[in-house]
Amino acid sequence: MAAETIFEALEKDDFGVGVLKRMQDRFESSWARDELFQVRNFHAGFDGGLFMGMFHTGLQMITGGRGFFDNKPVEPDSKHMMQLKDYIARKGEENFRRTLKFDNEYLFDKLTDVYRSGTKHEEDQPPHLVIADYDICNNRCTEEYGNPCQYFCPAQVYEMIEDESHPGRKKLQLTPSNCVHCKTCDIADPYQIINWVVPEGGGGPNYTNC
Ligand code: SF4
Repeated sequence: MAAETIFEALEKDDFGVGVLKRMQDRFESSWARDELFQVRNFHAGFDGGLFMGMFHTGLQMITGGRGFFDNKPVEPDSKHMMQLKDYIARKGEENFRRTLKFDNEYLFDKLTDVYRSGTKHEEDQPPHLVIADYDICNNRCTEEYGNPCQYFCPAQVYEMIEDESHPGRKKLQLTPSNCVHCKTCDIADPYQIINWVVPEGGGGPNYTNC
């Protein structure tokens, strides 16, 4: 639909609102809109937890996606991130320190997953993950949230490494060429200072089912 609209704009040599608005019109009358309309309240249904979510999902399937409510306002995902002190108080230090063991038969480490996703980017392109303030990452976030980006990113793009200019401290290092374009970081970052922009050259994952 985007390509058809761009083609139309190029053909008419007109990039005004009148022509570009056709993208929205095309979407509104497409199968994609009908499909998405059926699941418009899916995420909101899980606001009250897993079991309420399953109940709401069943109801939405019967009512064409409406359920008990329509367009229930929900907070952005980033507002649900728990601070480190609250997490440890609730779950306990031992649970916080628990780490997964990867055997690469049943559980795969992130870099193996990236390799299997067939992800490729031009190595010398500008980073498509733009961080607005590294100072927040290296200081405030470390204390308040424990740098959750290094955990929620499935592709090991974010790592906290030793800061050679400040011994004993860590700093954020990015490897954008690993990115599998899930956009979790843009959505979940509690400070909303990560901006995912489209990478150059059509790079990204290329899943082939192997
Ligand atoms: S978009 Fe996904 S894979 Fe890419 S850096 Fe963000 S969390 Fe990681």
